[in-house]
Amino acid sequence: MTIDNLPTRIQHWIGGELLDSADGRLFDVADPVTNTPYAQAARGSQADIDRAVAAAGNAFPGWKGISNRERANTLNRIADAVEARHEQLARFESFDSGLPITQAKGQAKRAAENFRYFADVIVALGEEAFRQADSQFSYVVRSPVGVAGLITPWNTPFMLESWKLAPAIASGCTLVLKPAEWTPLSASLWHEIFAEAGLPAGVVNIVHGVGEEAGQALVDHPDVPRISFTGSTSTGRHILRSSADHLKAASMELGGKSPVVVFADADLDAALDSVVFGVFSLNGERCTAGSRVLVERAVYDDFTQRLARRAEQVKVGPPADPATEVGALVHPDHYQRVLDYVDIGRKEGTLIAGGTRPAHLPDGNYLQPTVFADVTQDARIFQEEIFGPVVAVAPFDTETEAITLANATQYGLAAYIWTSNLQRGHRLAHAVESGMVWINSHNVRDLRTPFGGVKASGVGREGGAHSVDFYTESKIVHVAM
Ligand code: NAD
Repeated sequence: MTIDNLPTRIQHWIGGELLDSADGRLFDVADPVTNTPYAQAARGSQADIDRAVAAAGNAFPGWKGISNRERANTLNRIADAVEARHEQLARFESFDSGLPITQAKGQAKRAAENFRYFADVIVALGEEAFRQADSQFSYVVRSPVGVAGLITPWNTPFMLESWKLAPAIASGCTLVLKPAEWTPLSASLWHEIFAEAGLPAGVVNIVHGVGEEAGQALVDHPDVPRISFTGSTSTGRHILRSSADHLKAASMELGGKSPVVVFADADLDAALDSVVFGVFSLNGERCTAGSRVLVERAVYDDFTQRLARRAEQVKVGPPADPATEVGALVHPDHYQRVLDYVDIGRKEGTLIAGGTRPAHLPDGNYLQPTVFADVTQDARIFQEEIFGPVVAVAPFDTETEAITLANATQYGLAAYIWTSNLQRGHRLAHAVESGMVWINSHNVRDLRTPFGGVKASGVGREGGAHSVDFYTESKIVHVAM
């Protein structure tokens, strides 16, 4: 497939200029349908990160110095510029990451809303004041921390970049963004968007490249006091260790293996729709995917068979086809990793749907949605994040057992509970070890609420005032009265 305005060269954006790497190095960028390179991107290294951090440092006093309202106005213009490109963004995102085009179409709206939301937050934000009888008055002065480092993954890349860009610049920080190397295409739209919105040069700088090079240089840079990272748990652990040398604060949005707990008294049709959506939409490459489904024994066989039939009906196809529900997995390495888990699953559970490449798609990173039943808690496909259209299903007999199974992994990002007994729903929600719980609902976001995980799924929260807290320092001033 060809798409309009596809660049063949993707450059860094530093200090308001499009630049190649200082050493001229490049890396190939391929699409997941042909797995052949369509572009080359600048491969950033220490020198490029140094240039970008210096540009961000130069822009910081000016950006910090304007009013919250002025910054908010710029954020709203950025949102307008994002929305104006929604068709192109959807085509780019679908082409580069393999997302079905119908699902890529929502991404611009979500990204624009992130900018509009943080524009509102920063204008409405107050600073706290405290009074001790008539003897002392204390008030908080909040100031942006300086240059922030943002490191993002390849799943829904543009939207996840916006989720970090918006609060950082709203708070008055300047920044360097290192997008994921498998999906740099949509990030190539940012420089036009920022220029159109009148964002001063150097407030946002983008350095492409490989995590171990450009990403690591950003993490190690002494003039970058904050790292906001979204990605895998293993990389997160590594970044936290590196951040310790400079005592950097780091926000970690990491992997998940989120349980969906289905009780026999639930609206089973709604629960089934939610399970299918939760693990197969976005190709299953979703951090909050409900990838472990725990079903009460009384309805287990029926629910599991219905899930298998639904999985077989999911339309796998080219990402650009509007009929496609599951597209191509992002990269051949990731595809192979998911296939390896399917092989492991064949020994660990009962394969009841999928498990193979669809016959009509001989090339590209395609997998028929896959369901394993009767998976026990020690199985690797129960414990490990697969990050593809693969789900493990297990039965439970009691509420206590459901909680034990739900909590039986290292992860704790999201959980979904389906029951018509709301008291039980709340009990479960409190007992499950996760940062976010949805009861009789799936993945509906509210940007005001804390987003993040516990255990190996993350450190810290993003969203609402939590994001602004991360990008600002609070100083307390005490005054005798
Ligand atoms: P990844 O950890 O491989 O890479 C993420 C980013 O980190 C990339 O930009 C990469 O270049 C960079 N990176 C890699 N090594 C680095 C290093 N040594 N120093 C600095 N940067 C480095 O993750 P991925 O495969 O791109 O993304 C998938 C993972 O992201 C999954 O585990 C998924 O659950 C997680 N995720 C979490 C959330 C959340 O909000 N919790 C959201 C989306 C994705």
